[in-house]
Amino acid sequence: MSGMRYEAPSTVDEAVALLAGAKGAARVLAGGTDLLVQMRAGMTSPGLIVDIKGIAETKGISVAGDGFRIGASVAGAEMGEHADLTAAWPGIVEGAELIGSTQVQSRATMAGNLCNASPAADSVPALIAAGATCTVAGPNGRREVPVKDIPTGPGKTSLGAGEFIVDIKLPARPAHASDAYLRMIPRTEMDIAIVGAGVNLVLDDKGTCTEACVVLGAVGPTTIIVADAAAALVGSKVDDAALAAVSAAARAAATPINDKRGTIEYRTKVAGVLASRAAAIAADRARSK
Ligand SMILES: Cc1cc2nc3c(=O)[nH]c(=O)nc-3n(C[C@H](O)[C@H](O)[C@H](O)COP(=O)(O)OP(=O)(O)OC[C@H]3O[C@@H](n4cnc5c(N)ncnc54)[C@H](O)[C@@H]3O)c2cc1C
Repeated sequence: MSGMRYEAPSTVDEAVALLAGAKGAARVLAGGTDLLVQMRAGMTSPGLIVDIKGIAETKGISVAGDGFRIGASVAGAEMGEHADLTAAWPGIVEGAELIGSTQVQSRATMAGNLCNASPAADSVPALIAAGATCTVAGPNGRREVPVKDIPTGPGKTSLGAGEFIVDIKLPARPAHASDAYLRMIPRTEMDIAIVGAGVNLVLDDKGTCTEACVVLGAVGPTTIIVADAAAALVGSKVDDAALAAVSAAARAAATPINDKRGTIEYRTKVAGVLASRAAAIAADRARSK
């Protein structure tokens, strides 16, 4: 770590200038729960670290239009304490709150989870199911990017040199809408998901599903949007037949690896189980709204 420079700018423009002007490898620091672990393990040794937590625009949770804006420095614990966010997007909050332990929770951010680009990142499936977007600031100004377009492969993102995420935005919520996130870990806690499933859906006044998105994590190099599962939900009352079709579609879409934490066969089966359970939970929540 010799020669490493640490900067804590107070504006987005300053952060972009630092990142864009860096001679060697530069890294953004949010909670540091991935970055610091990777630096200690010798996996990365950036010449410049730009801590974004002092930038006002990366802080806080606010209502933006009819939706929410969550700053890139906001930790999972802060999300869980936000009653309106939790009521509108319980699945997003449960994804963020599954990250690590209480200590990790007070630091770990969704933007960091997204940019670390692990296929097993717990907050990402529900964000994608929600149709979340993020504000990316960089040398050419700002752009709004769908969250689904940020991770491009294990450890890889679509962010260009000098770019970073300022905030994440969630869209407006119609009546009878809700979401859910479930994951399977081989241990009882503090483990990496072998499957994650996020479901977001909207019901009409009669309980028929009008919109749905089903997203799997940890069973492919990036998250998988299961279009056939959404198609099985839309037009249904989210009954047993629809849930069985969601399960079958999730199993068909999953492309997991085989490792000591789970075989391909097991992960594929669990993908079906979790997708249908998450859909059932999201529907129950939506019915009660
Ligand atoms: C004990 C422990 C348990 C964990 N358990 C889980 C778990 O259950 N589930 C899970 O998904 N993860 C888990 N993690 C991993 C980690 O906590 C999460 O990925 C977390 O969300 C990372 O957020 P952070 O703010 O700490 O990111 P950081 O470590 O600050 O950054 C992570 C990466 O993203 C980049 N980055 C951060 N913010 C931005 C931004 N705004 N714009 C652009 N790039 C950015 C950094 O440069 C770095 O490459 C665990 C980690 C530990 C140490």
